[in-house]
Amino acid sequence: MTDNGDTDNERLDFIREIVRSDRASGRHAAIVTRFPPEPNGYLHIGHAKSICLNFGIADEFGGRCHLRFDDTNPVKEETEYIRSIEEDVRWLGFDWGDNLFHASDYFEQLYEWGEYLVKAGNAYVDDLSAEEIRTHRGTLTEPGKESPYRNRGIDENLELFRAMRNGNVPDGARVLRAKIDMAAGNINLRDPVLYRILHVDHPRTGDAWCIYPTYDFAHGQSDAVEHITHSLCTLEFEAHRPLYDWLVEHLPVPSKPRQIEFARFNLSYTVLSKRRLLKLVEGGHVNGWDDPRMPTLSGMRRRGYPPAAIRDCAKRSGVAKRDSMVDLAFLEHCVRSELNRTSERRMGVLRPLKVVIENFPENQVDDLEAVNNPEDAGAGTRLVPFSRELFIESDDFMEDPPKKFFRLAPGREVRLRYAYFITCREVIKNADGEVVELRCTYDPETHGGDAPDGRKVKATLHWVSAPHAVSTEVRLFDTLFSSPDPGADGDILADLNPDSLEVISDARLEPSLADLESGERVQLERLGYFCADPDTTLERPVFNRTVTLRDTWAKMKARG
Ligand code: ATP
Ligand code: MG
Repeated sequence: MTDNGDTDNERLDFIREIVRSDRASGRHAAIVTRFPPEPNGYLHIGHAKSICLNFGIADEFGGRCHLRFDDTNPVKEETEYIRSIEEDVRWLGFDWGDNLFHASDYFEQLYEWGEYLVKAGNAYVDDLSAEEIRTHRGTLTEPGKESPYRNRGIDENLELFRAMRNGNVPDGARVLRAKIDMAAGNINLRDPVLYRILHVDHPRTGDAWCIYPTYDFAHGQSDAVEHITHSLCTLEFEAHRPLYDWLVEHLPVPSKPRQIEFARFNLSYTVLSKRRLLKLVEGGHVNGWDDPRMPTLSGMRRRGYPPAAIRDCAKRSGVAKRDSMVDLAFLEHCVRSELNRTSERRMGVLRPLKVVIENFPENQVDDLEAVNNPEDAGAGTRLVPFSRELFIESDDFMEDPPKKFFRLAPGREVRLRYAYFITCREVIKNADGEVVELRCTYDPETHGGDAPDGRKVKATLHWVSAPHAVSTEVRLFDTLFSSPDPGADGDILADLNPDSLEVISDARLEPSLADLESGERVQLERLGYFCADPDTTLERPVFNRTVTLRDTWAKMKARG
C-alpha cells in the first residue's frame, strides 16, 4: 500500500501541470473537462475520484465540467441508474449547471461521421461474426489477419451501412469497422469495430436506432463535439489513445481534445467494479446498492460518510500514473477527521446493563449539563437526565477483572461522564449466572464529575437514564470482505466476511436522540460516529455506525 495522504497539496499533480501549461501557453482559452459515467450501475468511490478530479480542475482553472452519460449500450442501462448518478454527483458537492449531455445526443452526428469514414475509404462493413473477428485480430506477438470483406468498394460499404441503420440486417450479422492496419503493434488499431447492430430500444432514443456506436467511436467524438480540452480517463484506456487520436485526425470534428490517463483509485478490502457490485446486489449478499457496507456513494451516504470526507480522501490520495491501493484505514481517517469537527456528542449504550443507584432518591431527576462538541465551542451544551436507574455498557463491567481492566468492578469507583462517581456494591445475577444488574452508590459531592477531595478514578463511563432512554436498532458494520484484496484468487464471494453486519435490536440512547432525521450524524461517546438510517420511523430510530473512534491509520503514521 502506498502514497496515502502524503501528497503535498501545494505541488500540482501531473495532470494539473499539463492543464496549467496549456492555459499559460494560450493553447486553450477555457478548460473544459467531463465526467462520463456509463449508466449501468451506481457510482462508487472510484468514480468519486474521477468526479473530484474533473470538477476540481474545472473549478480551479476557471473552466467547466460536463456531466455526460455514456449511454451507448442500451442493453445494460437503466433510468434508475441515471437518477442515482445525478443525485450522487450533487451530493458529493458538484454542479454541472446546464452542461448535462448524453452520448446518445450525438447518435445522428456519429452516424454521419461513420458515413464520412466510409466515403473516405477509412471504414468498411464486415460480415465476419464477433468470434471470427476475435480470431482474426491476432495477438500481442502475431499480426492480425485481414477480413475477406475488407476491400469492399466504397459504394457497397455505404449501401450496407445504410441497410444496417435501416433495420434490414439482423443482430450480429455485420459491423462497421475502421480500416486502419491489421498488422499494427497496437491491437486497438487492427480495424476496430465502430458500430454494432442491436435491435433494442434505448432509454432515451427509443426505437430510433438499431445500430449503436462502440465506446471507442462515441467517446472521443463526444469529447470533440463538446469542446472538451482534457479528457481524463483511467489507465486501461492508455492503449486506446492511438485510436482516439486517429479518429479525431480522420474526422471533421470541431475541436481536438486530448486524452490523459491516470491510475484508478483502488481501496483495500473493497471491490470497485459495477459488474462485481451488481453481482453482490443481485445475489442478495447485500441489501441493495445503498447498503451501508457497499463502496457506492449511496451506501456511504447511508452509512454517514460526509461528502467532504470523500473529497478529502480523493484529494489527499493524489493523482498517479501507476496503479496503487489506498488503505481503507486512510479513508476512515478522513471520515473521522471530518466527523470529529462537525458531529455533536451524545451518549448511548449498545449493550445495556442495568445499574441501580441505591442512595439516589426515587423519582428524582437531575438534569446535567453536557458539552455538545469539545471541538466546536459554538455547539453549546445540552441537559441530560440522571436518575436512580441507569444503563451502562455491559463491557464496562467485569466481575473478576484482569490487571489492565480499569472500568467498573465490584467495590470499585468510576466516573459517569458529566455526572457523578459511583461505586459498585453488589452484583445481581439471573438463574443462568449472568450479571443482570449492579447495585451501586453515588457520591453527591462529585456532581459534574470531580471529587472535591481530589481523589481520582481510572475510568469514565458513558451511561443513559433508564426511564428516559430511547430504544433503538443499531447496525454495526465490519468490512464486507475479509481479504484486503477481494477476489485475488478469482472468486469475490469466497472472500465475503460473514460477520460484516451485526444488528443490535435494543440499544438505549439518551432522549435527545429520539427525533433525529434520517441522515443526521452524531458521535456516541466512546462508541463511534453514527448516522440515522432511512429505516427510521416515528416510533423507532435506526442508527448505522459510520465508523468507530479508533484511528488505525493515524496510529500507523505515528509509528512511522
Ligand atoms: P467500473 O469498472 O466500476 O464499471 P467504469 O470505468 O466502467 O467503472 P464508467 O461509468 O465507465 O465506469 O466510469 C466513469 C468514469 O469514472 C470514467 O472516466 C472512469 O475512468 C472513471 N472511473 C471509474 N472507476 C474509477 C476508479 N476506480 N478510479 C478512478 N476513476 C474511475
Ligand atoms: Mg465502463
